Amino acid sequence: MNGLDSDIKNMKQKYREIFLKSVDAIKQRVDEIKPKDFNGDIFDEYEMKSVGYNWQSAVLDMFENDISHEIYRKWKEILDYRKNFKCKGCATCCNLACSEFSPEQLKEKAQNGDKFAKQFTQIFVPYENAKQAEKIYPEYLKLLSDTLDEDVYFYHCPKLNDCKRCSDYENRPEICRVFPDNPLSILPKSCGFYDWRAEVEPVALMLHSMVEIIDYYKQNIKREK
Ligand code: SF4
Ligand code: SF4
Repeated sequence: MNGLDSDIKNMKQKYREIFLKSVDAIKQRVDEIKPKDFNGDIFDEYEMKSVGYNWQSAVLDMFENDISHEIYRKWKEILDYRKNFKCKGCATCCNLACSEFSPEQLKEKAQNGDKFAKQFTQIFVPYENAKQAEKIYPEYLKLLSDTLDEDVYFYHCPKLNDCKRCSDYENRPEICRVFPDNPLSILPKSCGFYDWRAEVEPVALMLHSMVEIIDYYKQNIKREK
């Protein structure tokens, strides 16, 4: 197995471990506010105003008003810490952008008012095929394709000139100015934010897992209509 395959395997394994820890941590918080001597399960169905129903209400309130705020605050800290890192101008993100959406889907989203899709379709054009994209940065392309479970489409920006500089730098859109604004973006090693991502990744993965678990609770707590 080469180093890249091993990196990807480690990343997925890391997320699984973090996810299981978050499951336990959230379950503990749910149990801490469980009424004394009550034996029901949080996912059972209870009559309105019953002990179980009130417990579910308290749990949903805790998700909404405590845990969600904690997640938001920690996410903001991660983004603030990003200010300590700088773009090195390697141009990889201009030359090889990826999206889970096809060009047609992105156009449709842009027409429906999606701000990101609107900016993205204004600058990026699709590679004719994956082979073309692979020529630019074979390792990065493999990392993207192997890390993301869904289909990925590759794009490049024609505004990048032969000297690997943006030919319309002053007018570049917001998505270029803030990239990468997601600590879970897959970044090439040449990126100036690579170390930022590496440092904050465990906390970002933990927050991501908490959002997934809270969503699961919200969808599966049965409430009498
Ligand atoms: S507009 Fe400029 S900064 Fe943005 S992707 Fe294109 S070349 Fe890169
Ligand atoms: S990949 Fe990172 S370092 Fe390279 S141009 Fe984009 S933001 Fe800058």
